[in-house]
Amino acid sequence: MMIRVDEDLCVGNGQCVVVAPEVFDQRDEDGVSVVLVDRPDGRLAELADQAIRECPAAAIARLTDDG
Ligand code: SF4
Repeated sequence: MMIRVDEDLCVGNGQCVVVAPEVFDQRDEDGVSVVLVDRPDGRLAELADQAIRECPAAAIARLTDDG
C-alpha cells in the first residue's frame, strides 16, 4: 500500500506522529504531517493503518499500488 497526507485537510494535531513516529513527521512551520515512509509494510503498515483510523481530519489516504 501507499499512503499520502492531504495537506489541505490536515489540521496538524500530530496524532499520526504519536501513533506512528517512524512513518510520519510534522513540518516545523505549520505542523502539517509529512510522510516519511510512503510504502510501509509489516509493523509500520499496521501503525499507519492505526494512524489513518485515528486521524481526526481523515487526511491520510491509503492508495493501492495502481493509484
Ligand atoms: S493525525 Fe491527521 S490531522 Fe493530525 S497531523 Fe496527522 S494527518 Fe494531520
